[in-house]
Amino acid sequence: MVKQTVKSLKPYVPEKTLSALKKERGLMKLVRLSANENAWGTSPKVAQAIMDWGVSGANRYPDSDVSSLRTAVAKGLGVLPESLVFGDGLDEIIELLSRTLLSAGDEVILTKPTFSEYALHAEIEGAKLVDVPVDEQGATDLKQMAAAVTPKTAMIWLCNPNNPTGAYLTSQAIEALLAKIPTSVYLVVDEAYIDFVTEEASPSVVDLVAKYSNLVVLRTFSKVYGLANFRVGFAVVSTELASILQTVRLPYNLSTFAEIAATAAYSDQAFVKDIVKKVAVERNKWQEFLTEMKIRFYPSQANFLFININNASELSDYLLNQGYLIRTGLGQNWLRITIGKPSDNKAVQDFIRKFIKQD
Ligand SMILES: *Cc1c(COP(=O)(O)O)cnc(C)c1O
Repeated sequence: MVKQTVKSLKPYVPEKTLSALKKERGLMKLVRLSANENAWGTSPKVAQAIMDWGVSGANRYPDSDVSSLRTAVAKGLGVLPESLVFGDGLDEIIELLSRTLLSAGDEVILTKPTFSEYALHAEIEGAKLVDVPVDEQGATDLKQMAAAVTPKTAMIWLCNPNNPTGAYLTSQAIEALLAKIPTSVYLVVDEAYIDFVTEEASPSVVDLVAKYSNLVVLRTFSKVYGLANFRVGFAVVSTELASILQTVRLPYNLSTFAEIAATAAYSDQAFVKDIVKKVAVERNKWQEFLTEMKIRFYPSQANFLFININNASELSDYLLNQGYLIRTGLGQNWLRITIGKPSDNKAVQDFIRKFIKQD
């Protein structure tokens, strides 16, 4: 029998392939600005590392401990190697945390709107969702979050910067929340976009994992590192929780390809710095454009912008016909646009200008 909690679920709608969409719309070219991918690709070190490996060892199971990547990340973040849990993308870690830490009837507190997978996996486990709407800046309302905690609360999800609003919270604000909530409540801070933050020098709360055993910090190689296709994400947790998660996860969840690619990408922090700089420049241009056009948006510290515009679905359709795919379905009259290369951003802005004039 199908699990009761699964029967009524709305599935996560993944991106259609660009080739399928092009065919469907009869387009010559299509640029995806809907999935917050890195428009500049990935570090050239990745191609070299993959080529060097070739297919040697394709017949052997990969390293279940992901040792070389673990060593590199532990060193880079200044955390214990045993506090890292790697997943087949961060998606797997979100599922793993829900599967391990949630029981039917538990309450899970979430920002509204936020990344939809937190709710999906909470619902599969039979947990109850408690939504806290964002404030007028698109940021998580931490006061309301703390106030939403009850004896049934098992987990709080915080996405920082928040997808889809792009707003971010300071590490001090997050620590203040940690100090307020019971240690039995896990606070999961998804830092998928933390590298893009330029307002604060060290916005991550990863250092606090050593101090708070109920803190979980998540990272991915899919965004700034440009490795979405290779599926590598990880959690930084207390060593006690790490060993429990290691027991629950699949034994060979990362291929050697994925590990080699991520290790090479991680070794090229100059690439990351360059992308962060490029995105910040383009983000500013976008925000200036939106201000000039009087289009409502949330100030973003990520590699995307969330905009509120009349006739949003007509606009997204119009842009698609011009060869630009942006993200719909995250809120009525809201669209999320990934920051792309300068020429594409300029083109999309010009099309938006045209669309508004016609309107
Ligand atoms: C993209 C994204 C993820 C998923 O990352 P993968 O490693 O590609 O699975 C997780 N959290 C947020 C907030 C994201 O935007």
